[in-house]
Amino acid sequence: MSSAWALPGREVFAFLGLGSNVGDRLTHLQAGIDHLHAARGILVDAVSSVYETVPVGGPAQGDFLNMAARVATTRSPRGLLRACHRAEQARHRTRTVRWGPRTLDIDILLYDERRIATSRLQVPHPRLTERPFALVPLIEVAPGASLPDGRSLVRALAARAPIDDVVMIGRQVVVP
Ligand code: ATP
Ligand code: CA
Ligand code: CA
Repeated sequence: MSSAWALPGREVFAFLGLGSNVGDRLTHLQAGIDHLHAARGILVDAVSSVYETVPVGGPAQGDFLNMAARVATTRSPRGLLRACHRAEQARHRTRTVRWGPRTLDIDILLYDERRIATSRLQVPHPRLTERPFALVPLIEVAPGASLPDGRSLVRALAARAPIDDVVMIGRQVVVP
């Protein structure tokens, strides 16, 4: 496992949610993790299991694989978002319809304990607490974490119970 201490400057932990429902989904997820880890100022510190999930919103489309990652980073939130977008582009992500099928989607779920509300970036991710497919893997890599309002992730997930359509398939994606 990589060490956050290898990073110059002040590092913080951020938590990312990854999803894929087109092509070789596991390969896209592992490539996304590898791409992030290779980027300047980002170390992937832990990854969750992979879950198969039923799409929420958008057109009819194939099931997703979703997972979460904890990264140590010296990047700003905007800089981290840029790295996420570059990793998506490396997997040839295209955007046609909102919430449409994608090879790779990487969202910033949490960044340190920050609350960010700009036109390009909202953190915590604005739909995180509605989404068991994001919360379940996130809790694996951030078990004790809370939202900036003090509510624990576990409590946010419990409010969505019963949790259907989020099925753990294993630990196929690994820390580089
Ligand atoms: P959703 O945001 O509902 O999960 P999506 O992931 O399909 O939908 P995208 O098309 O990937 O949406 O992203 C649209 C825009 O969302 C991005 O260009 C980015 O500027 C913005 N955005 C705002 N907050 C975040 C965040 N926390 N993480 C990633 N992107 C974000
Ligand atoms: Ca998303
Ligand atoms: Ca996204």
